[in-house]
Amino acid sequence: MKFSIFSIARNAMSYHENWQAHWRNPEPKSEYEVIIIGGGGHGLATAYYLAKECGVRSIAVLERNRIGGGNSCRNTTIVRSNYLWDEAANLFEKSMQLWEGLSQDINYNVMFSQRGVLNLCHTLQDMRDAARRVNANRLNGIDALLLDAQQVKALEPLIDISPSARYPIVGATFQPRGGNARHDGVAWGFARAADSRGVDIIQNCEVTGIRIENGMVIGVDTSRGFIKGKKVGMVAAGHSGVVAAMAGLRLPVESHPLQALVSEPLKPCINTVVMSNAVHGYISQSDKGDLVIGAGIDQYCGYGQRGSYNVIEGTLSPIVELFPSLSRVRMNRQWGGIVDVTPDACPIVGTTPVKNLFINCGWGTGGFKATPGSGWVFAHTIAKGEPHPLAAPFALDRHISGALIDEHGASAVAH
Ligand SMILES: Cc1cc2nc3c(=O)[nH]c(=O)nc-3n(C[C@H](O)[C@H](O)[C@H](O)COP(=O)(O)OP(=O)(O)OC[C@H]3O[C@@H](n4cnc5c(N)ncnc54)[C@H](O)[C@@H]3O)c2cc1C
Repeated sequence: MKFSIFSIARNAMSYHENWQAHWRNPEPKSEYEVIIIGGGGHGLATAYYLAKECGVRSIAVLERNRIGGGNSCRNTTIVRSNYLWDEAANLFEKSMQLWEGLSQDINYNVMFSQRGVLNLCHTLQDMRDAARRVNANRLNGIDALLLDAQQVKALEPLIDISPSARYPIVGATFQPRGGNARHDGVAWGFARAADSRGVDIIQNCEVTGIRIENGMVIGVDTSRGFIKGKKVGMVAAGHSGVVAAMAGLRLPVESHPLQALVSEPLKPCINTVVMSNAVHGYISQSDKGDLVIGAGIDQYCGYGQRGSYNVIEGTLSPIVELFPSLSRVRMNRQWGGIVDVTPDACPIVGTTPVKNLFINCGWGTGGFKATPGSGWVFAHTIAKGEPHPLAAPFALDRHISGALIDEHGASAVAH
């Protein structure tokens, strides 16, 4: 089934009651060439690119819950590629390029909106750091501008740039190609596109064990029985530590709650995505009109998909300082996800000490923007059995060698 103006018109004639299901609901087979653990955006994108780019014919995505029930559909949907270090900038820029053609590629409108991302500066030192990042971005061919306070005001008329503000705005970085996308559309779109290439998406199928023989993975135990797999990819985000432990691996990853909240719908009033590293808040407006607001992580480790009230308060007070006219807006919903945070705020993508067992995790607070890029490099890594060149710097053993890529500054979320 292809989405087009004609299929919409045809289905309108039958009151949209005859649309085909977006993906099948197959029973698990006894064996697959590749098994992906985790049906979030990254797992689904991996399966899609494995089928499309690498010609793998027998793939299963095993999801313990429903697809997109994890962080994929709990995030604040910010997409950008303006990371400081070459390794991260190259990886996130690959993802940005895939975003730019994604709706056409998967024939699903992911509502990718390049409205621009502002990272605010509140001090002279913020400005110096921003100038360094903008220069580094440009050297990597990434669009990046350094703005003064007046230019920020021109983009966001509601923002308070008065010098007497509690967090005075002295400038910002701006990535015009950044923006946001509809997160559940991304999960559904990849699921549908993967399914149409023969990938079995198996929901309500929890992986409970990873079987290894002679140092090589041979399959996984699940709540629906043992499934043989020649290769297994772990893409479990906040539960990566739990899944990797099934293979006897201890990851340098902490799982923390990260919260977000949305307001009642308003008429268009925020034009871009506005982030402030210093005050730990970010805000954009969805196409529906809701203000979408995100925070820094809750400092404790845990798996409950909720967070503490003090973080909400600590986020909303600076947002109101930045946008005083929003002070009377009512918040509608609040939720949390579990993010997998590494010591250098960069992902882990690559091989593991177990043969044919691969890992993709540690995207922490910033993996939504990487969804297509992560799937792309992980698919190639699994298919070839060696890291894709863009993923090579993000190997698990960098935490032993010390070759860390510190992106805490550009991650723009308090850790
Ligand atoms: C509140 C919040 C705001 C965020 N904002 C942004 C943002 O603005 N921009 C950005 O780039 N990133 C953001 N992120 C981060 C981003 O959402 C994640 O990095 C990214 O979605 C991780 O993708 P995923 O598909 O791997 O995760 P998930 O969607 O969590 O997928 C992992 C899946 O694995 C499944 N699973 C776990 N254990 C098992 C098992 N044993 N068996 C089978 N399946 C299992 C889970 O059920 C889950 O569905 C945010 C995160 C949160 C929580």
